Amino acid sequence: MVGCYAQLKPEEIADIPGVDLVLGAAEKFNIVSYIDELAKAPGKGMVKAGAISTVNHFVDSFSFGDRTRSFLKVQDGCDYKCTFCTIPQARGKSRSDTVENVLLNVAKIAEAGVKEIVLTGVNLGDFGNSTEVIEGTKPKKEALFFDLVKELDKSAGIERFRISSIEPNLLTDEIIEFVAQSRVFVPHFHIPLQSGSDKILKLMRRRYTRDLYKARIEKIKTVMPHCCIGVDVIVGFPGESESDFMETYDFINDLDVSYLHVFTYSERANTLAVELEGKVDMSVRRNRNERLRILSEKKRAHFYQQFEGDIRPVLFEHSKEANSMSGYTDNYIKVSLPLQEYLINQIEEVKIGKFLGGESTNATLAAVLV
Ligand code: SF4
Repeated sequence: MVGCYAQLKPEEIADIPGVDLVLGAAEKFNIVSYIDELAKAPGKGMVKAGAISTVNHFVDSFSFGDRTRSFLKVQDGCDYKCTFCTIPQARGKSRSDTVENVLLNVAKIAEAGVKEIVLTGVNLGDFGNSTEVIEGTKPKKEALFFDLVKELDKSAGIERFRISSIEPNLLTDEIIEFVAQSRVFVPHFHIPLQSGSDKILKLMRRRYTRDLYKARIEKIKTVMPHCCIGVDVIVGFPGESESDFMETYDFINDLDVSYLHVFTYSERANTLAVELEGKVDMSVRRNRNERLRILSEKKRAHFYQQFEGDIRPVLFEHSKEANSMSGYTDNYIKVSLPLQEYLINQIEEVKIGKFLGGESTNATLAAVLV
């Protein structure tokens, strides 16, 4: 077992029947070296998980799926202190790869024939701290995320870069303007909002106000009207009254965003939020989640409808449906076409068909090649 939970509760996990080995955030990278020892530890699962304060070294990695898209980790850990979040306890201090090593990994991925890279990190916009961080010292910035973006834009071999998720306070105007004119960075951002109420944002210890968030969205839409923007929101945070929730609802309703990821707040041990007053009843949390999910469907439908009949580039991949292929446009609209094997892992222009409604979270639009 590896992952955030394995670092947070290793002994608890080791007691689960069938678990042989639990590795912490640092140890998971040495999984192979623990395999021999494993046979010597029958019964309870073997635990190798050090204190999170010892997790201070960046380890690079990237995924290979069906050779169409690769997820490339460039940053790990987080130094923020959002009151609901256990990630800093599970993933440690903010640390990053070097720009040089990211470029080497990009070259390796390109050599394997992959066309699109999704840049990932726990707090991606905080990219640039050194690969090794020392407990109790202020991290040294060796580069900024914007420096990485500019270098990647010059690199050869990859046709698309996508930025996975970035904090609004770290998504600067210069990054937005650069992406707008970039040859390879696609017009798609995912920007956590969490709440549209300044009162709740403060309780969450987020590092922005609703006005800053709004300014970011407006800036993006001014320079890239076709940009897809995803939003994370948490409902039912302690102290969130019905009017606070409606503030969030109305705020998002008025924003030109494309879809939401809605999370129901749940208590996490060892966080400040569990100590806060004003616990919201679970049935109210679920109801608010449902209302925002309906709003998300409306937002996505509205976004899709703007592009009906337009021509946009799509990177094709195999679909789960027989005799079919699917793909995403640069601005993250999923389309599907009858399978033509020679087009898999190719970028081609298509004319986007009509959005026919339905469960839009999984909606795939018909399209024709042009
Ligand atoms: S919510 Fe994100 S930014 Fe805040 S502490 Fe967690 S990982 Fe860091």
